[in-house]
Amino acid sequence: MTNKHLTDGLTTWIEVDLGQLQRNLRVLGKLSRKPVMAVVKANAYGHGLTEIANAAERFGSDWAGVARFEEALALRKGGFTGKVLVLGYTPPAAALLAALEEISLCVFDLKTAAQYDKQALAAGKKLNLHLKIDSGMGRLGIQPDEGEAFVKTLQRYKNLHLEGMFTHFARADEPALPTTAQQLDRFDGLVKALEAKGMRPAWVHASNSGGTLGFPAAAYDLVRPGIVMYGLSPSSKVTLPAGIKPILSLKTRLVSVKELPKGYGIGYGHRFTLKQRSRVGVLAIGYADGSRRVMGNQVLINGKLTDVIGSVCMDQCMVLLNDLPDAKIGDEVVLLGKQKGAAITAEDLARRWGTINYEVVATLGHRIPRIYLNE
Ligand SMILES: *Cc1c(COP(=O)(O)O)cnc(C)c1O
Repeated sequence: MTNKHLTDGLTTWIEVDLGQLQRNLRVLGKLSRKPVMAVVKANAYGHGLTEIANAAERFGSDWAGVARFEEALALRKGGFTGKVLVLGYTPPAAALLAALEEISLCVFDLKTAAQYDKQALAAGKKLNLHLKIDSGMGRLGIQPDEGEAFVKTLQRYKNLHLEGMFTHFARADEPALPTTAQQLDRFDGLVKALEAKGMRPAWVHASNSGGTLGFPAAAYDLVRPGIVMYGLSPSSKVTLPAGIKPILSLKTRLVSVKELPKGYGIGYGHRFTLKQRSRVGVLAIGYADGSRRVMGNQVLINGKLTDVIGSVCMDQCMVLLNDLPDAKIGDEVVLLGKQKGAAITAEDLARRWGTINYEVVATLGHRIPRIYLNE
C-alpha cells in the first residue's frame, strides 16, 4: 500500500516495504532457528543503510554486518544500538573509535592485531574481534590449520577480545556442488579443535544467503543472509522459501510528452531515430540513478512494457509512447517492481545488463529518496 502523499512531490524514488522485510526476516529466523545478522553493507544493498538496520533491529535482529568501518560508524550515528561487525579490513587508525563505539572488527593478520591492541589500550576499552577463516574462498582469512596458533597469540593481547570467528562460502548458491560441504568441513575442524581446548569464541558463523537456505549444518550461532533478506535469490539455482518476497520498487515519472516527426534523432549521439511520427516521453531517471547506458531498456507505464529509446542520459531517458495514447506528464513509471499486474524484476534487469540481481540493487543511486512503507 502506498501512502500517496509521501511520493506526490517526488520525481524519482525508491519504495521499500518494511512489512515485507519483517516477513522475510521472520522466515529466515524460523528456518535457521538462529539470530539473523542483517547484512546492510553497500547502503543495505541499495535499500538504505540506517533505515534497514534500524528496522531489522526493531524486528529482532540484534546484529548488523557491514563491509567498511565508515558504514559501521554511520549505523551508530543513525541510532543502531545492536551489535555491529565490520566484515572487511579496518585500518588500525580506526580501531580506537571502533573500541569506543563498540564496533566489532574482523581480524586475519597478527601484525594488524598488535596495532589494534595499542589502539584499544588508548581507548581504555576492549576491542571485539572476529577471526576470519579462509576455508576456500581465496579472499580474506587465515587457513584453518593456522587457527589454533593465531588464537593463542591473540590471547596475549589484553585489550583485544576474540568475540567470534567466521568463514564465507564461495559457491553456496550452487547447492548441488560439493564445494560448500568441503568448506564447512575445513571450518568445522577448527571449530571443534578450539572447542576441545576451551578456546572457541562465543559467536561462530558461516552462512550467507545460500548457506542459510541450503546448509542448515552451517548455521552455528548466527546466520548472515544478505540478498535473501531483501527478498531476492542468491542465484537461479536457489528457490526462495515461501513467504520471501522482494521489498524494493524503483519509480519515476513521465516529465514530458510530445509528438516528433519521422526521422527525428533522439538523445546524445542520435543513437535512435524515429521510424514514424511518434509520441516521445521523457523520464526523470538516468544512469546516475542506477539505470544503465545500454540499449534495450524497458519500463512500465500504465501496466504496459514500453521501450526506452536512444542513449540513457545521466539524469533522464526517453521512451516511446505510441502504444500509450493516454500517457501524460506526471504519470508514475516503474523501472523495477510491479504496476497493474505487470512486473520488472531485479533478475530481468540483471539479464539485460549482463550482471546479477545483487549489482542491480546495490548500485541504485544515493540521490534517490527512499520511502519506507508499512512500518
Ligand atoms: C555480503 C556478505 C554476506 C551476505 O551475502 P549474501 O550472498 O548477500 O547473503 C555474508 N557474509 C559476508 C562476509 C559478506 O561479505
